[in-house]
Amino acid sequence: MTNPYALALHGGAGPKPGEDYTIVEAHLEELAKEGENLLKAGETALDVVEIMVANMEISGLYVAGKGSAPNTAGDYELDASIMEGHTRNAGSVSAIQDIVSPVGVARAVLDKSPCVMITGHGANLFAVAHDFEQIKNSENYYTLPVGVSQADIEQHDMTHGTVGAVALDIYGNLASATSTGGVFGKPAGRVGDTPIIGNGTWADDDIAISCTGTGEYFIRAGGALTVANGYKMAGDSLNEALWRLLDEVGRLGGDGGLIAVSKSGEIAMAFNSDGMKRASVSNKREVYATTFAPCR
Ligand code: ASP
Repeated sequence: MTNPYALALHGGAGPKPGEDYTIVEAHLEELAKEGENLLKAGETALDVVEIMVANMEISGLYVAGKGSAPNTAGDYELDASIMEGHTRNAGSVSAIQDIVSPVGVARAVLDKSPCVMITGHGANLFAVAHDFEQIKNSENYYTLPVGVSQADIEQHDMTHGTVGAVALDIYGNLASATSTGGVFGKPAGRVGDTPIIGNGTWADDDIAISCTGTGEYFIRAGGALTVANGYKMAGDSLNEALWRLLDEVGRLGGDGGLIAVSKSGEIAMAFNSDGMKRASVSNKREVYATTFAPCR
């Protein structure tokens, strides 16, 4: 009998009704199947969430990695983070520029530095020192992700998107990773919730969480730790814990969504936006990908 395993992915909670996200859903479904195979074969949750997010970063389908948009100064500043539950090891980068895989750099911060978070110029220096692939010509590299037009970017309306993954491996360990191009029209140096450990990303012995939405509201609402604390200390069900944060985000006027997996392999996803691109799979649950369907 296989030990329990579980994987959930999100491709951001900013989809627009009427847009066709078939390609995105197919990509998420394929990735979830790949992730399931990796977990079944004994890959760690930490490795799997990194692989999933790195794959979404290079796809150009999401507002992360290749699908990111420039800030108002014309620069591409990206944020990413990763955390392993049982060790509480974590790494993150913010406002990193022209590196293909921000989540890979975040993982290197976790593995190879005494720091948790490295930002801006320092993050770039760190990435180069660790031989991460650089983008030589950003004009030719970045692309509009599915559902985003040039007009959206020019409107500077804080439209957003992000990618994330949470996993439970067959050893009973949890991990989470999140990566983003942030919100459109962000000023230089703006940092959202994504690279903040305990806010956009969290994993401990009991729960792993990845958030997506207008980061300012997630930061002000307390972020992923609110979910973990609700789940572990207030007796919330997994779903209630997600809504503990999301209701507060909504009360403040924000929107977004989040995904979580528990130590028992339970998966929960929730959003208060129009939809959330997402997929999930576990030893008890077939691969399922959708954008606008209500969470189940
Ligand atoms: N949370 C991200 C940020 O504020 C954006 C998103 O998740 O859509 O940078």
